[in-house]
Amino acid sequence: MLAQKYVDMLERKSVIRELSEYAVARGKEIGYENVFDYTLGNPSVPVPESYNNSIIRLIGEKSAMDLHGYSQSLGIREVRDAVARSLNKRFGMDYSLDHIFMTSGAAGAIAHAVRLVTVPGDEVLTFAPYFPEYGPYVNQTGAVLKIVPPNTEDFQINFEAFESMINEKTMAVLINTPNNPSGIVYSTATVKRLADILREKSNEFGHIIYLISDEPYREIVFTGVDAPFVAKYYDATITCYSFSKSLSVPGDRIGYLAVNPACPDAAKMIVMCGQISRGIGHNCPSAIIQWAVSENLYVTSDISVYETNMNILYDALTSLGFKVVKPGGTFYIFPKALEDDAVAFCNKAKEYDFIGVPADSFGAPGYFRLAYCIETEKVKRSVEALERFVKENY
Ligand code: PLP
Repeated sequence: MLAQKYVDMLERKSVIRELSEYAVARGKEIGYENVFDYTLGNPSVPVPESYNNSIIRLIGEKSAMDLHGYSQSLGIREVRDAVARSLNKRFGMDYSLDHIFMTSGAAGAIAHAVRLVTVPGDEVLTFAPYFPEYGPYVNQTGAVLKIVPPNTEDFQINFEAFESMINEKTMAVLINTPNNPSGIVYSTATVKRLADILREKSNEFGHIIYLISDEPYREIVFTGVDAPFVAKYYDATITCYSFSKSLSVPGDRIGYLAVNPACPDAAKMIVMCGQISRGIGHNCPSAIIQWAVSENLYVTSDISVYETNMNILYDALTSLGFKVVKPGGTFYIFPKALEDDAVAFCNKAKEYDFIGVPADSFGAPGYFRLAYCIETEKVKRSVEALERFVKENY
């Protein structure tokens, strides 16, 4: 018999994927250069040269076993050590390799983090707008994802709603800053206030409430924006990192999970990750890719492109009358649609080959997301299509 829960999921396919497939199909009809495809967070900015050079050099230098064999189950020790040292240097922390577990991207890290601190029936709270894949990431463990409604003023945390929802069953709070889909970066004041509440509630309920901080966009922060390192403010923080976006390598499937050294049982949690991996078939990420990222921990792709693209879109959207909070990072912008039904709005925009994603599945109906990790030249050309669409319809 087929497992019904996955059969049921076939009915609830990712809206992002569906729209992306539409954009590609439309591209075959009219030329993809004429489709303003803002659907996927798949970076088009080139991979840094130093990353490619590392791979080429590693192939010449290291043995086939080192590069293509199974690596140690927690990740290559030298790589974990290099990651720990980079975090200490950049953020004044005290990690050692015992606090780092190498994963297949942030997705792999979150899969382990949730299993580390919950059992079926426990609750994990996250804040809208949120990355829709959090649904399957959390719910397939048997824990239950609960969504705190958004603060649409500035997309920082809606603390009033949060405090009314946190309860004895809450074992973890999952945050994402810089945020997909809003592009907002949580301020130091937001992170501090969140940490204060988590400490207070952990005491009240008599168990640690863990903070799972999903940070694939950590490096993509725009000029002058305050982007605190979350773990600095809360001991029981499990940081989930990915190199997908900062190095433009989402297909290489590489990231890590870091447990704050100040968290009780931090080193034990990392060893536990090795056991979780055995059950979910995660195993280790590719060895050659682990070596390559360890040589590129202070490098990023040319992320200035994203700030340029953001400014073009932000100016165009505001001048056309959209309500939109200016992003502080990532490559997403999250305007309010010009009618209540963002699905209808996005369907009309499709007629102009301007393709955004309605945010119903992000927990913020009425909004839509544009993923502007595309060429600046195309962003500029898309403004004309957006203007035509708005003027002819609203
Ligand atoms: N978390 C967020 C907020 C994301 O946007 C993504 C990918 O887009 C992920 C996690 C998964 O990252 P990865 O592909 O590196 O596993």
